[in-house]
Amino acid sequence: MQQQQQHQCPNCGTPVPFGAKFCGQCGIQLNWQQMPSPVNQQWQPWGGSSQPAFIYNTSGQGRLSVIPYEIKEWNWGAFSFSWLWGVCNSVWISLICLIPFVSLIMVFILGAKGNEWAWQSKKWDSVEHFRRTQRTWRNWAIAVLVLNFIFLLVFAFVELSGQTSTNTTPPPAY
Ligand SMILES: [Zn+2]
Repeated sequence: MQQQQQHQCPNCGTPVPFGAKFCGQCGIQLNWQQMPSPVNQQWQPWGGSSQPAFIYNTSGQGRLSVIPYEIKEWNWGAFSFSWLWGVCNSVWISLICLIPFVSLIMVFILGAKGNEWAWQSKKWDSVEHFRRTQRTWRNWAIAVLVLNFIFLLVFAFVELSGQTSTNTTPPPAY
């Protein structure tokens, strides 16, 4: 894709190179958003206090959805809850996780592609709404992980203390 268009810092108006993380003049952090219009697919910077007014919410349009820059990250909720997360986020491909062994691979694909798929398959109010929802899933994933860990510790403790007491019984005679 060619980048002929001049980009300007949304804060101070200084020309900024495409893809720059920060404005060289005022130093604000820049985010980049691709315009979803088929005739005008140029990139636009925004950041700092500027409003991303040109951001179109294209969620829920399948392959036509433009994936916002901000949600391109690992999804712990999808990774941990697999098909359960998928059903709640309209990512039906996650039902593959119901197949044993295949799920072991699928959860990693879900972790990597989860955000993208969820954005494409469901209509979200905003990027913020999307991120809020996925944060909640992540928090539950952490909670379940911690509970599992505690359970495992308790189980190991009970097992160990059980073993020491059974050591007093005579070994089985063969
Ligand atoms: Zn600037």
